[in-house]
Amino acid sequence: MMQVSPILRINALTKTFDTFTALHGIDLNVSEGEFLAIVGPSGSGKTTLIRILVGMDEPSDGAVWLRDTRIDVIPANKRPTCMVFQSLALFPHRTVGQNIEFPLKLRGVARADRKARALELLDLLRLPQEYYDKRIQQCSGGEKQRVALARALAYDPEILFFDEPLSALDYRLRKTLEKELKDLHRRTGKTFIYITHSLEEAMVMSDRIAIMKAGRFEQIAPAEEIYARPVSKFVAEFMGEVNFFDLSAGDAAGVTISPRAKTALGAAKGALTIRPESLRTLGAQETADLSFEGVIVAEYLLGSRVQYRMELATGQEMIVEVLRENAVSGGIGARLIVGCDLKAAHLIEEAHDAAA
Ligand code: ADP
Ligand code: MG
Repeated sequence: MMQVSPILRINALTKTFDTFTALHGIDLNVSEGEFLAIVGPSGSGKTTLIRILVGMDEPSDGAVWLRDTRIDVIPANKRPTCMVFQSLALFPHRTVGQNIEFPLKLRGVARADRKARALELLDLLRLPQEYYDKRIQQCSGGEKQRVALARALAYDPEILFFDEPLSALDYRLRKTLEKELKDLHRRTGKTFIYITHSLEEAMVMSDRIAIMKAGRFEQIAPAEEIYARPVSKFVAEFMGEVNFFDLSAGDAAGVTISPRAKTALGAAKGALTIRPESLRTLGAQETADLSFEGVIVAEYLLGSRVQYRMELATGQEMIVEVLRENAVSGGIGARLIVGCDLKAAHLIEEAHDAAA
């Protein structure tokens, strides 16, 4: 793979508020042109991090580098142009054109050149040219987001930072803008750093996802890898519904581990993660590396799939998802045997989870 030198390097960044540590010496490299999503629950330190990156706050320790320049010591307005996109910051009584041209005006760009660039940006954001004279107040929520983006791009920043820009919008508009943002990223070739608490949003748009937990990065990897090989239970659960099978439980009532699987697992310690859709229902003659027998306690229709919650004799609940055409008859109260092969399970080693 071609080695691209990072555009942004975060080194041992720490942020302390009085006695509370919001960021615990975090490290991160972002490649030129990358779309990186930073995802984490509320209070995990996402906004604190981005505020430091754009210069709205100072780190307590550590450093931030933009290529060869250390930027955490440079005032926000003197930094080699980083910009947060916030729709709220638009001037409501001004026109779309005036809003987009604002950064260009600050830089003393001549009027005709400003207008030409604003019209180009309208085009890039797929807004009609007539919008140049429209007032912000007359724009819909989605149009305002596009204008805010056009203005952010008018700064011609090295990196575009986003802090949950779509969280206030309704579902359909959010879905549309997610795709537009991804498309915009591709067309501009800029580096995007995008904060969200929505994993779904991060998965649609980004090249890599950094999962944050209590002021630390828990895992930084492409979405598929985080989904298939989570480093901890926290990450696995953040990526959606998942079953954990604790290896220390071994052969419990209703749980069968095949001899082949036992050999393969050896002395492994920790928990296996099994996604609900990795489990299949087993007929009387069928076997699998891991099989679980229980009773259906709940049933939900999820479009083309059916989800079952089943309770094992041990009391543990498992989530199973099958295609609708494979739905089991009997429903709640029915006995169910499901299984999967080891290759569909992922081992989270005990040591790693304890350290997290
Ligand atoms: P997120 O954006 O992931 O929801 P934040 O970065 O806003 O989280 O906050 C992380 C933690 O730091 C929270 O516990 C929050 O209460 C705390 N925090 C943020 N800003 C301040 C501040 N100015 N003073 C004290 N604590 C703060
Ligand atoms: Mg926040």
